[in-house]
Amino acid sequence: MAKKDDDTAETRLARLILALRSQGVSDPAVLSAIETTPRESFTPDLFKERAFEDSALPIACGQTISQPFIVGLMTQALKVDKRDRVLEIGTGSGYQTTILSKLSRLVYTVERYRTLMREAEARFKTLGLTNVITRFGDGGEGWPEQAPFDRIMVTAAASDEPKALLGQLKPNGILVAPIGKGPVQSLRRYTGDGKGGFEIEALTDVRFVPLLDGVAKEL
Ligand code: SAH
Repeated sequence: MAKKDDDTAETRLARLILALRSQGVSDPAVLSAIETTPRESFTPDLFKERAFEDSALPIACGQTISQPFIVGLMTQALKVDKRDRVLEIGTGSGYQTTILSKLSRLVYTVERYRTLMREAEARFKTLGLTNVITRFGDGGEGWPEQAPFDRIMVTAAASDEPKALLGQLKPNGILVAPIGKGPVQSLRRYTGDGKGGFEIEALTDVRFVPLLDGVAKEL
């Protein structure tokens, strides 16, 4: 087997895409969005070498950029359409936001750390994304002025059913979120039945940082 150090960025990316496919991320549009998003631009310098490993990595403010497989799985589960307006809670590095922006019409994204928000905004600018709207605030409250949304993705773990967010979903919309209080949570998909109710599916176990109340006081 070739030594990892000899691998080019292309080889690493190709290997990552193969790994995602083998784990069940099969939607070509989702795979293509991942393939065309330079993950190394979203990680701190210290971790750039590991950007194409299928693992979560630390970012500023004690947060994490999600594992590519989980990003693929969640994006696929959200069944995003090109015409959709999507709300994302937990901008973090902006990696998941960028992938959503390639698959939808507009992405509204909320982050409770100013530093992360500013860094993510700079990346969106560099990448030339024109359909991402950012907000510094408590994502637990959603974005009432822009509701209802076709799709909602929560990338931090809610301790309970995210009622305020479900209330901002269109009747046939889909929300994907990790739910649970402990270190391991259940990734759930809520699909609106058009009559105010939801079909709820548990997709897999995941490990996310918690969805915290209010905005961060520190930068
Ligand atoms: N999607 C991100 C992963 C982010 S980790 C990426 O691709 O990099 C989860 C993020 O949710 C963290 O940045 C954290 O600060 C944020 N977060 C936690 N609680 C929040 C809240 N109530 N409102 C907004 N963002 C929140």
